[in-house]
Amino acid sequence: PPKVTHICCIGAGYVGGPTSAVMAAQCPDIRFTVADTDSARIAAWNSSNLPVYEKGLDDLVKMQRSVNLFFTTDVDSAIRQAEMILIAVNTPTKTRGVGSGKAADLRNVEMCVRRIATVAETDKVVVERSTVPCGTGQMVAGILDEFAKPGVQFHVLSNPEFMSEGSAIANLLHPDRVIIGAHGTSQWAQGLLRAVYEQWVPRDRILTMDLWSAELSKLAANAMLAQRISSINAISAVCEAAGASVKSVADGVGSDRRIGRDFLDASVGFGGSCFHKDVASLVWLSQSLNLPEVAEYWSQVLAMNSFQISRFARTVSQTVVGGLEDKRIACLGFAYKSGTGDSRNTPAAEVCRYLLDEGAHLAVYDPKVPDQHIRDRMEELGCDLSQVSVCASAEEAADGAQAVVVLTAWKQFLALDWEIVYGSMAKPAYVFDGQLMLEPETMRRLGYHFYQIGHPRSP
Ligand code: NAD
Repeated sequence: PPKVTHICCIGAGYVGGPTSAVMAAQCPDIRFTVADTDSARIAAWNSSNLPVYEKGLDDLVKMQRSVNLFFTTDVDSAIRQAEMILIAVNTPTKTRGVGSGKAADLRNVEMCVRRIATVAETDKVVVERSTVPCGTGQMVAGILDEFAKPGVQFHVLSNPEFMSEGSAIANLLHPDRVIIGAHGTSQWAQGLLRAVYEQWVPRDRILTMDLWSAELSKLAANAMLAQRISSINAISAVCEAAGASVKSVADGVGSDRRIGRDFLDASVGFGGSCFHKDVASLVWLSQSLNLPEVAEYWSQVLAMNSFQISRFARTVSQTVVGGLEDKRIACLGFAYKSGTGDSRNTPAAEVCRYLLDEGAHLAVYDPKVPDQHIRDRMEELGCDLSQVSVCASAEEAADGAQAVVVLTAWKQFLALDWEIVYGSMAKPAYVFDGQLMLEPETMRRLGYHFYQIGHPRSP
């Protein structure tokens, strides 16, 4: 079979950037062009201040950029030059009309595909990398056929991305699996993409299947991951009410090999750009397929997550003596999880909104989320920003605060000198650990009123 020499990736976001950088490093004979219509983002990828933070990403980009990795706003040229085009654009949740709040908004995918069909002068393999509902391949193939220039042929593949933010580079270098879905005549193209991955991924980790199964595997995987978090969070509420410890329960449950310990950590809830959106998309897909019981089952994963977030925020406001009116509350962490600067859909923003509604003044610190993003996220939720200050360190945020609320599990919060922090806080000093990071006995010995999700309260 022919070999690929040029790959274009449309969408220079959290997926497009890191995946292209890793692929470029592993496939020195292939030229990768990452194209995006957002010129500020492309400029950032071409600068020393990349738009995405991931451990190891800076070095990779520095190594490959201008060698076989290029970032451009010239989407059309990138399409023309490539034999294979990866679509890694965002597929957010629809915000109006039929399926609002659940269905995936596919307009970015549609625009890319129209562009590809209109511009392409030679045959192309078109690869869905974005997370899309099962059946999207049909829409993609339909558009390509309708707008294709005479004699130009397209082959559609589904190759969903499973990397996890915060460990993207490690996941991409050593994926648990790579899935490549294809239909009928596109099966030879499956081989073409397989050969790209075989340059660094062991053969038995590359699964080939039909297109619909590949698309659905991604939604199902995210739904099951989110479901584990909601399940342990539901148990955390039982633990608090019953006086049990969710960490011990998770160990007890997770040591069953059929269940496993990974992804069984209780927390303030899941966030990020994918879990909520993809579970909602599965709910909508199930409804559309006339499976209301299935839709209801998955929608409970989302309901439990909202419950956990508000339950935690309510605990803060009901525990601090006299309520939160005019009190300074330090929020440590804002990213939706540690290891990333991503704050999309972060539970931290929702907790902050709740605390602001109770009259608190917030002092927020996150080591990786840009200050402006912190303000933007709160503004999106309708928060009054005059009561929010963004701080340059955890110590600064905690200075004079009545309570510290830990919202993201950054390791540096473990290393804080909690004794000095205690000295700088208003008394009584409270710590609410939404990430099960801190050691309750130590914190209580230092004098804190300490609350941790899923654990008994101070004796
Ligand atoms: P993102 O918002 O960070 O990046 C998407 C990029 O696509 C943006 O820079 C945007 O400007 C660009 N874009 C949109 N429409 C375009 C068009 N018509 N032409 C050119 N560029 C266009 O999104 P992301 O987090 O990288 O996610 C991309 C897809 O991958 C989504 O479907 C997501 O569900 C999926 N995914 C994300 C992750 C993750 O961890 N973020 C993991 C696996 C899968």
